[in-house]
Amino acid sequence: MFDKILCPTSQQQTFQNNLTKAGKLAIDRGWAINVGGGFHHCSSEQGGGFCAYADITLAIKFLFERVEGVSKAMIIDLDAHQGNGHERDFMDDNRVYIMDVFNRYIYPGDGFAKRAITWKIELDWDTEDSEYLQKVETQMSKALQEVTPDIIVYNAGTDILDGDQLGGLAISPQGIIKRDQAVFQAARKRKIPILMVTSGGYQRSTARIIADSILNLHQLQLIDQKVL
Ligand SMILES: [Zn+2]
Repeated sequence: MFDKILCPTSQQQTFQNNLTKAGKLAIDRGWAINVGGGFHHCSSEQGGGFCAYADITLAIKFLFERVEGVSKAMIIDLDAHQGNGHERDFMDDNRVYIMDVFNRYIYPGDGFAKRAITWKIELDWDTEDSEYLQKVETQMSKALQEVTPDIIVYNAGTDILDGDQLGGLAISPQGIIKRDQAVFQAARKRKIPILMVTSGGYQRSTARIIADSILNLHQLQLIDQKVL
């Protein structure tokens, strides 16, 4: 499996190297953010939904095989779409736990892949901040009570933003910032290394929101050099 997802071109290798390096960085210093990546519809067997590289799968397999002390991973996938690529890849792998929160009515609707999700929340059209944040935070704390992973891979799609034609949800910019903050707080207070990737987001304004969110994490000292 590991060999299969090593792709031959230099561009593909750059994408993949970035995320495997970011994974190692997260283990070494507690956190890392790769501004890009999160191609969660691509499995090691097949691309799909704008995703040509199974970067999440590769990063986790790299850590399992090459970094000592990493034997359990949790994927927290909060992009608006179901993360069927990594779900298919880790279907029968009991070292990987997946929490996925997505719009139930949109692509990919992959019923087979859903069987790999440990904690699943399916949202309705136009879900707003209060319901969304309450569901994410409740499910996340339940997940982290049940399992303590060696790494969290956080797929932080911004296509949950109100007005996103592909995501179909109605989360405000402030809601996205609060969501990212909640995930980092949950990981860092438990001293679990976290690797964030930015995944989907199809409005021009999402670049600013991602920047503001990272600044917020910095201001709260959730992404500095200090160990919390
Ligand atoms: Zn998406």
